[in-house]
Amino acid sequence: MRIEWAPEADLGTPYWWSALDASEPSDPLPETCDLLVIGAGYAGLSAALAAQDCGARVVVVDAGEPGFGASTRNGGMFGAHPRLGWATLKAQFGAEVADGLFAEAQPALDWAKNLIAREAITCDLQQTGRIQLAYTPAHFATQKAMVRTIREKSTVDAQIVERADLGQEIATRLYHGGLLFPAHCAIHPAKFHQGLLRAVRQRGVPVVGQAGVRALEQSGNQYAAQTAKGLIRAQKVVLATNGYTTQPFRWHMARVFPLPSYIIATEELPSNLIGHIAPGRRMMVETRARHSYFRISPDGRRVIFGGRASMAEMGPERAAAQLYKIMLGIWPELEGTRLSHSWRGNTGYSFSHMPHVGQADGVHYAMGFSGSGTVMAPWLGAKAGYQAMGDARGATAYSATRLERSWLHPLERPHFLRAANLWYRQVVDRVERWQAGPGRDG
Ligand SMILES: Cc1cc2nc3c(=O)[nH]c(=O)nc-3n(C[C@H](O)[C@H](O)[C@H](O)COP(=O)(O)OP(=O)(O)OC[C@H]3O[C@@H](n4cnc5c(N)ncnc54)[C@H](O)[C@@H]3O)c2cc1C
Repeated sequence: MRIEWAPEADLGTPYWWSALDASEPSDPLPETCDLLVIGAGYAGLSAALAAQDCGARVVVVDAGEPGFGASTRNGGMFGAHPRLGWATLKAQFGAEVADGLFAEAQPALDWAKNLIAREAITCDLQQTGRIQLAYTPAHFATQKAMVRTIREKSTVDAQIVERADLGQEIATRLYHGGLLFPAHCAIHPAKFHQGLLRAVRQRGVPVVGQAGVRALEQSGNQYAAQTAKGLIRAQKVVLATNGYTTQPFRWHMARVFPLPSYIIATEELPSNLIGHIAPGRRMMVETRARHSYFRISPDGRRVIFGGRASMAEMGPERAAAQLYKIMLGIWPELEGTRLSHSWRGNTGYSFSHMPHVGQADGVHYAMGFSGSGTVMAPWLGAKAGYQAMGDARGATAYSATRLERSWLHPLERPHFLRAANLWYRQVVDRVERWQAGPGRDG
């Protein structure tokens, strides 16, 4: 499919970055600290705030500029419900842990909203609600069962939207119903990151860019981290590198793999067209396996449309063509719309699809957000920071999940994603289209 690009088109650069102020100069790397945080995304910055609050001398380092990772590239859908149903969680981790994970959803969301208010972060926070759109009748039946469990196991507000009422949310005949989380929100993800970064620096915590950790050695009760900007010694370490984890962190690379997610932004559209296609102005996400997620930009003028154009690497033009085609499948009236941006980022997937806060060889970590991290990464990053400092506020049900290895991924590079990509395209997509009913083209 041929894409028409808007004159301001910027391929490979996230739409969100155009709203950022010029980056502040990097802090120099100190020689020592109490706690070294590796990774300056939401999780690392939040870990730094928590540990600093406990009285620690904290330093944050990042391999790129702070915010280089997913935290400034994501869709800005702000919610905290576990990715998996209660029964699946019970089967994996036991009933008590499943209860704990469900119970933590509302406190995590409330805490993250409060973090934005407390630190006076202007990040276009809007309580839009988020709707999961059922692609097949079976998915809708699962949603109905899920709503019952959510009400039973948590204080989260979740509502079923019948197919007949979907027109109030989205102008398409594609979906069979939906599950609405009215308290979920929209944010501008890069502004949220920049606000967190400022909050950390305002507390006197150095955040050092271009200082990727190349080696980490423990001797006695101290760590020595060799970074691209020199050596730093620390009593404790929190690793917050999620989908960007590289050597020397082989243990984590084997358990959390980078799964690319791609996003396009349209040119500015007439407000009556936006009002027509997305009257509910919700954050929207599909239930199909290779799901798309989409929203209206905070200024109300563009469609931001994301999805798994591919599980493997793909250039911005090819990815844009794939996403554009899927977008037209939902909203044919967008045919001819020009695009302004096409970019990608790495989600950090765990094989259980659940994040984990724990320790390996004495190194604390929070990762495995599996595509849902605008709330969970800061929430669990703070938990890791508190745990590193031995503070009781670090307690979380996410320490009872597990980061496990899989035979699919014996090496550090996730070669299995090529085969998985083929499997989803050739088999799962086709089965789901057939289950969805007539009118779904390839
Ligand atoms: C395209 C896309 C769309 C998404 N949409 C949503 C959404 O709408 N809602 C939602 O809830 N979640 C979404 N997510 C997920 C969410 O963005 C992430 O879960 C979250 O940002 C993870 O934050 P983090 O701090 O753990 O990692 P990141 O923000 O990825 O930061 C990790 C950092 O670690 C650094 N690093 C790596 N190795 C080293 C090293 N050796 N030394 C120093 N630094 C290192 C990297 O440079 C990087 O800056 C999306 C993700 C992507 C990619």
